[in-house]
Amino acid sequence: MDYFPAFHDLRGRAVLIVGGGEVAARKYALLASAGARVFLVAPALHPELETARNKAELMHMPEHYASRDLSAYTLVVAATDDATVNAQVAADAERAGRPVNVVDTPELCSFIVPAIVDRSPVQVAISTGGAAPVLARRLRSQIEALLPAGLGRLAELSARWRERVKRRFPALTARRRFWERLFDSPLVERLMQVEERAAEALFADALASAELPSRGEVSLVGAGPGDPELLTLKGLRLLQEADVVVYDRLVSKEVLALARRDAETLYVGKAKADHALPQEDINALLVRLAREGKRVCRLKGGDPFVFGRGGEELETLAEAGIAYQVAPGITAALGCAASSLIPLTHREHAQSLVYVTGHGKDGEVHPDWSLLASPRQTVVFYMGLSSLPRLVRELLAHGRAGDTPAALIENGTLPNERVVTGTLAELPQLALSAQFGGPVLIMVGEVVALRERLAPHRVADRDWRRVA
Ligand code: SAH
Repeated sequence: MDYFPAFHDLRGRAVLIVGGGEVAARKYALLASAGARVFLVAPALHPELETARNKAELMHMPEHYASRDLSAYTLVVAATDDATVNAQVAADAERAGRPVNVVDTPELCSFIVPAIVDRSPVQVAISTGGAAPVLARRLRSQIEALLPAGLGRLAELSARWRERVKRRFPALTARRRFWERLFDSPLVERLMQVEERAAEALFADALASAELPSRGEVSLVGAGPGDPELLTLKGLRLLQEADVVVYDRLVSKEVLALARRDAETLYVGKAKADHALPQEDINALLVRLAREGKRVCRLKGGDPFVFGRGGEELETLAEAGIAYQVAPGITAALGCAASSLIPLTHREHAQSLVYVTGHGKDGEVHPDWSLLASPRQTVVFYMGLSSLPRLVRELLAHGRAGDTPAALIENGTLPNERVVTGTLAELPQLALSAQFGGPVLIMVGEVVALRERLAPHRVADRDWRRVA
């Protein structure tokens, strides 16, 4: 962060402007609208400043600036066209320990003034740290268009009702939920449009009819394979509504960063053979949190119902009578297929698609190998890396050709994704030399060979890293 953003209360406080031209007049207008008592040093005044002085709104000192003690002023602005005078003002302000802004001279500023969207009491301040003022103004007009004119009135109405809402919902969680539901409801539009008395009546109704939330709830959300843009809109909403986020090892930090800042986050990650928290304890944790009245987001890598034990967790919640819902996620097979350009089905090469786990509840899996070895089928193994030699042996023994194209995809959809391709027979050796550290998906089938044809024209898409 190059600058620390803050909002300054200037009501009734003395600020000093040095300079009396047009730039000074603009700064005066801004400072005066924030309620500051503005003092101004300049031999002559711009007409707007003169008007303000004549109305006794501006204290004018008609003189050339000479070095002085500035500690009486909360803020200082230098807006003359004389670089020497501006530098003197900056030095005096620094000496007095007062924030100073020198117009158009960032290196002498200890604070800069952002572009502002004003819907007081709602304010949006935009800064590019002086890097691109035109860009800041562009953003401002976009945000201007986005924020309804009645937003300020809505915020004022909320302020007037704050104490009453607090009395109705003494618990913080319940209160927050009331506000969130209100701001998400269609009522908001009307509250912003109607005049004050009508808005008061509408609000009173809304508060009187709001339910007292009795219990918490759990949303089981698929976080997708890693790229935060692959989260569903529903998943994002549930994640942002949650008071607590309970997440696994495979949930990327970029997705987790989308949770509300004040939400509690609990890691219950399971690395194979290194259980951070046994499944029963996770189940019990979800029940306990929900019983405390919290909205819990149970966030799982990929899709919660694909090798994710989502079903087991819901069974416990159902037994405990806790309300829940599920938001699906992009499962690793789909994410990896898209990012590595391997179409999972193809009219010529693959008419069926199977997801298999390489790791069962007690270790080894016993799928129907002859079915998995069928031709014109894509087989995707999850959690298959440690049993890869056996998986390959069984497929070959049951008749799948050794030269069937195959791929190993590590950290699919993430910036550090690695794709290793070869033949089925070569897979164990390829895996050994690759020395994988992240999650790996195994794909077997003729479709893997299509990747080479599809790869050349792909567009690099890694911009999401900046989103998170
Ligand atoms: N519920 C998850 C799967 C959990 S099982 C889903 O729907 O995707 C864990 C396995 O998923 C890993 O061993 C690996 O095989 C696979 N996996 C998950 N994320 C992956 C990723 N980003 N890249 C490659 N494989 C991944």
